Amino acid sequence: MQTVDILGAPVARLTLDEAAAAVAGFVREGRPRQVITLNPEFLYRAQFEPELMAAVRRADLVTADGVGIVWAARRAGNPVPERVTGIDLLLRLAEEAARHRWRVFLLGSAPGVAEAAARELAVRYPGLVLAGTHHGYFKPEEEPGVVEKVRQSRADILFVALGAPRQELWAARHLEALGVPVVMGVGGSLDVLAG
Ligand code: UDP
Repeated sequence: MQTVDILGAPVARLTLDEAAAAVAGFVREGRPRQVITLNPEFLYRAQFEPELMAAVRRADLVTADGVGIVWAARRAGNPVPERVTGIDLLLRLAEEAARHRWRVFLLGSAPGVAEAAARELAVRYPGLVLAGTHHGYFKPEEEPGVVEKVRQSRADILFVALGAPRQELWAARHLEALGVPVVMGVGGSLDVLAG
């Protein structure tokens, strides 16, 4: 995968369609991988927070989520074809998931939001298979149970809405234990879908 280095972050030079195709490959291969849609705020903080930069550098796909990142790539003489935002990639992947019968787990946001977002996705993409949902306000001692719930759901894609950058750190920390082929942070996207 061709990338461009933006302040230490390896940003994929992919269109939305190409990013979705790369994720489809991850689902087929089956080993746990992390997708990060990188926005300028995240990249800025990563300059000072080594844990964030480590998560970005370890991620399997980093997309240019914001015109600032697209601009920086052009300045670096190594342009990315377009912006690939979290919500756009989420919707594109939900569409693919419905088509291929991939199992989708929605984790995060206030109680009830993930369920409402799942209903909305099922309306937009008939046939979507829901592996499960869980809200994002669990206590530290409840965390192992949440990880186990996701693991047992046999999800193909896990969307994590705990807010950036916490969701990316959470995904990186639990990636192997979750055992899900694609784990991606989606920020406030579940709230947007839930309406
Ligand atoms: N969120 C959560 N648990 C928390 C904090 C936040 O599930 O402990 C959820 C919140 O309800 C929202 C989502 O994370 O649905 C994204 O939050 P925010 O808009 O602050 O993050 P951003 O979109 O900037 O990443």
